[in-house]
Amino acid sequence: MFDKILVANRGEIALRVIRAAREMGIATVAVHSTADADAMHVRMADESVCIGPPPGTDSYLSIPSIIAACEVTGAQAIHPGYGFLSENANFVQIVEDHGLTFIGPTAEHIRVMGDKITAKDTMKALGVPCVPGSEGGVPDLAAARKLCDDIGYPVIVKATAGGGGRGMKVAQSAAEIERAFLTARSEAKAAFGNDEVYIEKYLTTPRHIEIQVFGDGKGRAVHLGERDCSLQRRHQKVFEEAPGPCITEEERERIGKICADAVAKINYTGAGTIEFLYENGEFYFIEMNTRLQVEHPVTEAIFGVDLVQEQIRVAEGLPMSFIQEDLVINGHAIEVRINAEKLPEFSPRPGRITQFHAPGGLGVRMDSALYDGYTIPPYYDSLIGKLIVHGRDRKSALSRLNRALGELIVDGVDTTVPLFHALLQEPDIQSGSYNIHWLEHWLETNLRD
Ligand code: ADP
Repeated sequence: MFDKILVANRGEIALRVIRAAREMGIATVAVHSTADADAMHVRMADESVCIGPPPGTDSYLSIPSIIAACEVTGAQAIHPGYGFLSENANFVQIVEDHGLTFIGPTAEHIRVMGDKITAKDTMKALGVPCVPGSEGGVPDLAAARKLCDDIGYPVIVKATAGGGGRGMKVAQSAAEIERAFLTARSEAKAAFGNDEVYIEKYLTTPRHIEIQVFGDGKGRAVHLGERDCSLQRRHQKVFEEAPGPCITEEERERIGKICADAVAKINYTGAGTIEFLYENGEFYFIEMNTRLQVEHPVTEAIFGVDLVQEQIRVAEGLPMSFIQEDLVINGHAIEVRINAEKLPEFSPRPGRITQFHAPGGLGVRMDSALYDGYTIPPYYDSLIGKLIVHGRDRKSALSRLNRALGELIVDGVDTTVPLFHALLQEPDIQSGSYNIHWLEHWLETNLRD
């Protein structure tokens, strides 16, 4: 059993991990940049260590500082949260080389899934359905043209090293492939230092459906159903729900079993998410995230489990506290991501919070590191809180979300809360009829200034 773990992150997710550890009787070490000396995760942890100046590259991404912080505090394990070092295979290797435990999958699994081509090849071999497309990278324009003529337009050119929605270009027809191929390649080079790209059939009206999986690293794995994260702006999720409004029980069982079997076969450890596009009753794998997701609380709500505590358990070598048969869906949950951003352009608005009041009551969870008088620093991403509601069914979750948003007070900065008030009035949101393009179209017509 760990006595003490270090949380290599900040904001709401650092707080989330500290809460899980405290309930397990495990002491916590927070790390922070000089800009975060007054942050809530620092206040809530048992100990804290300053690991560098404000920019993430000099603090939350500084591997030597984080390892040193473990050594001086005696922390035995590191929870990476999401973002920062959570999917850095090199970091995992260094953690292990220092006799520490990384709370997450192996370096090898992170490496395989971090490269989109090896991820797709691996998943295909494990029987997971994939989007039709190139076998591996596409070396040049001539090869791209030939492939696209075979699979048919529209197509999407994607960076092998991609992430965060960058390095992706759509070609609607043969006339657009040259431009799409060359710009995707140069964007990939600029963003990831690697210009390898691959090509997939572009699905025109899919939903984004992802399956939560969990493995014990010893060949046992389960799935915890799906989340529908189709409401996206610039390929970034803003509203997530579970279960998916369009997924039937049979579909969930079929794709869930495929995913659980796949990760069991590779002895996957801990939490993972297998992302799919879903169109006309078919699932198409796009990528796997080898970490806890921002939107994990909707899954926790409907299954009544604590995924972070499970991560810690399996990192200690203990079995998961549930088997597949224990995992029964109860009700419906929705999460909205609240950012300190000004609408309609979504420009970041860091600054001082003059007043903060979190909503409460039955079925309401607010994961946030805000407090009265807190100053949001300008150096990190603009997520300031996640509001998660759980209801008996989708309809009651929606009315609870409406009620909870009405109680939330965040004064001093602009936030994306008005977006959610407006979305809740939309018949398509009320009925769950949306795909990955719905929000972009809606923003174009409704949020122009
Ligand atoms: P990233 O790692 O950059 O987030 P993903 O591969 O997860 O990239 O894709 C992000 C989003 O891009 C998806 O949720 C979807 O909206 C869109 N997308 C990706 N691949 C396709 C495809 N083949 N057809 C249509 N849309 C796609």
